[in-house]
Amino acid sequence: ASLYKIDGWGTPYFSVNSSGNISVRPHGSGTLSHQEIDLLKIVKKVSDPKSFGGLGLQLPLVVRFPDVLKNRLESLNSAFEDAIQSLGYESHYQGVYPVKCNQDRFVVEDIVKFGSPFRFGLEAGSKPELLLAMSCLCKGNPEAFLVCNGFKDREYISLALIARKLALNTVIVLEQEEELDFIIDLSKQLCIQPVIGVRAKLRTKHSGHFGSTSGEKGKFGLTTIQILRVVKKLEQVGMLDCLQLLHFHIGSQIPSTRLLADGVGEAAQIYCELVRLGAHMQVIDIGGGLGIDYDGSKSVDSDVSVGYGLQEYAAAVVEAVQCVCDRRAIKHPVLCSESGRAIVSHHSVLIFEVVSATTYKDPAMSTLGLQYLVEGLSEDARADYSNLSAAAMRGDYDTCLLYTDQLKQRCLEQFKQGSLDMEQLAAVDGLCDLVSKAIGVKEPVRTYHANISIFTSIPDFWAIGQLFPIAPIHRLDEKPSARGILSDLTCDSDGKIDKFIGGESSLPLHELEGEGGANGGNVGKYYLGMFLGGAYEEALGGLHNLFGGPSVVRVSQSDGPYSFAVTRAMPGPSCADVLRVMQHEPELMFETLKQRVQECYEQRMEDEDEDSIHNASSDLASGLARSFNNMPYLAVDS
Ligand code: PLP
Repeated sequence: ASLYKIDGWGTPYFSVNSSGNISVRPHGSGTLSHQEIDLLKIVKKVSDPKSFGGLGLQLPLVVRFPDVLKNRLESLNSAFEDAIQSLGYESHYQGVYPVKCNQDRFVVEDIVKFGSPFRFGLEAGSKPELLLAMSCLCKGNPEAFLVCNGFKDREYISLALIARKLALNTVIVLEQEEELDFIIDLSKQLCIQPVIGVRAKLRTKHSGHFGSTSGEKGKFGLTTIQILRVVKKLEQVGMLDCLQLLHFHIGSQIPSTRLLADGVGEAAQIYCELVRLGAHMQVIDIGGGLGIDYDGSKSVDSDVSVGYGLQEYAAAVVEAVQCVCDRRAIKHPVLCSESGRAIVSHHSVLIFEVVSATTYKDPAMSTLGLQYLVEGLSEDARADYSNLSAAAMRGDYDTCLLYTDQLKQRCLEQFKQGSLDMEQLAAVDGLCDLVSKAIGVKEPVRTYHANISIFTSIPDFWAIGQLFPIAPIHRLDEKPSARGILSDLTCDSDGKIDKFIGGESSLPLHELEGEGGANGGNVGKYYLGMFLGGAYEEALGGLHNLFGGPSVVRVSQSDGPYSFAVTRAMPGPSCADVLRVMQHEPELMFETLKQRVQECYEQRMEDEDEDSIHNASSDLASGLARSFNNMPYLAVDS
């Protein structure tokens, strides 16, 4: 476990059990040992061809744990509750979940359900997100906020006003000054009193990768000049009482509570100014940014870690707002946050299989005679060869390395000129590998081929170099004997993972087992898990090479013999599904190909038996149908 730093990034949800497998503690630190769920057992169960009416699911697989979502929501709320109690803050916390982090229907429905006791609401940043948030919140707590962010046109604003009419606690947050005219106009037309928020462009700047939205030159929000103009306009039309919320977002993964408190303090001053100017301010919405410790280092200096936990985050926010408001003798506002990453990251695990690996285990000397090989070498190459042999006899490591490189280079030149054939070139490689092994050259980093697309499932690694913890989900009681990078199925040299948490350029990995390996019922399989990827990755993932999304299951803790129950299973998109996304019509494609099959076989009718031709052509057609219906990934025998 320490090789993969599981105790660092995994606590309190992931640990290694006595079988050497990763187990999930869905209720966090409150999970009892019999409630822990073995990830390997889930994979075996859902990929068993006997499961789901003979349709065992294909990997890659996303396993969702709704109980983890519940625990995250409870932990976030109790962190704020504790801070509010201990600091004597005179209002409450009421967060929203930004649906952009993961719009999956069941994820959003779970958050609304589990968040209902805490009046937890939703944040939308586009029209479809608003539509889904509206329909989900109809089943939620009526006090829960529906925060409408993002660029807005008339239609977005009228939809948000309709949401208010439907008794959803909707706040339209001005992201651009121009949106105000639409709001004033449409709210009069529809006779709806809006609740308006304003997004402030703070000067406090988060300098990490995710901070490009912050600071004076940030993409979003209103400057102080613009905020003052909004106040004036609202006053002129008699709607200043509608302005009730101040929002800001200084970026995701805020590295330290010092920066957080700085930003919150600046926003709290703006809030107090808005109160002074006559707005009926009620809420300060501190945006997202509550960070995740992806590498388990708890370090402010790591790009993928943060130097605080939920408790410290909440205490910093409460204290910063309280301090400013007390100084200005202003009533404490309701505290809202839009934490996305912190709520959904832990709840899903992506599991994929390694299908092969490059091997350097047994360098083989060619069957070509050594003499034939040496005779073919140029004079210089022959001199390298004898120097190499002499150095190998002496066990002179550095000289061996020098002459293996030199010999290989000279032989390549000879091959290019046509004076060495392919067998001779291969024989030189084999010879050099043997010498390297004999003198104890460290085994090179190997490439493990994974049945996955990085572009579909881990797009942030490709796009912004974001690191996620990756570890085998089993065999953790066995010392890995190799180091490897991961290469995916796409025909793209970027489709690889060669950077890992902790600044590593390779991952400790186990030898792949052949038939009869030591791992019981799991002979030959090698499964890796990518953890903490529940936020952003699914919606950002693309269709490069037409690899679609993974299969998805929802797993809940249960008291039955397995300690878990699969409550929902969705196979990933088939080849037909992904083709449809690109405007192809799989049904027509199938008909065209079937027609072609018939034409090809009709030509053979004259000289072959009609029945056997009919059978062969229908076999071909059903093969085609199967290809359309299966997922695009490698079908690894289960
Ligand atoms: N709110 C706004 C306005 C955002 O732009 C974002 C994401 O960038 C979030 C909330 C969610 O941030 P996080 O996932 O860091 O909590």
